[in-house]
Amino acid sequence: MFIITEHQYNIIMHQAQACYPQESGGFLGGRENTILGVLPIPNKHLYDRTETFAFAESDIETAYNFLVKHRLEYMGVYHSHPRGIPYPSEQDLAHNQKYLFIVGLQDRYNPELFAWRVENGQVRQEDIKIVSDFGVTVLDIRTGQPKLSEGADRVQLDRLAEMIDQMRAGQCPVYPKLDPKNWDASSFSTLA
Ligand SMILES: [Zn+2]
Repeated sequence: MFIITEHQYNIIMHQAQACYPQESGGFLGGRENTILGVLPIPNKHLYDRTETFAFAESDIETAYNFLVKHRLEYMGVYHSHPRGIPYPSEQDLAHNQKYLFIVGLQDRYNPELFAWRVENGQVRQEDIKIVSDFGVTVLDIRTGQPKLSEGADRVQLDRLAEMIDQMRAGQCPVYPKLDPKNWDASSFSTLA
């Protein structure tokens, strides 16, 4: 089982929705089973960002520095499946990662985060528990309730839908609260 704070979970979910229908992703750091750091990475795939998530050599360096700075262990990469099921693809499994974190966007307003453990060619689902930043459990992936859109207000959802439409028209997504020139949505939690 993995634990992630609500704040960090929301960063991943907002990124996945803002980038839809392209794939989005990033790096996760933590200790033991607790995710303490999220580092979103812009998709660097040159040709097909709706089917593939790619990052550059420099992103790995950024991730390394992020993990060292916050004294976190590398936990894995997360990425979204905007159209497909949130199960690791053959391509995902070919990367030989112990854990795969996949955002399922079958319902684009209600994305879900899934964790998979890969061992001896076997893929098993791991539970993810979302806790508030105070360490109180507020959401449980297994029970599935409540999800993002139930907690988000109307204005927020409209803004997301607007970004999604812009994406479809071929424009780059603009993250609402972030200066694109200084793109840093990374988050570190002190939750022990
Ligand atoms: Zn994938």
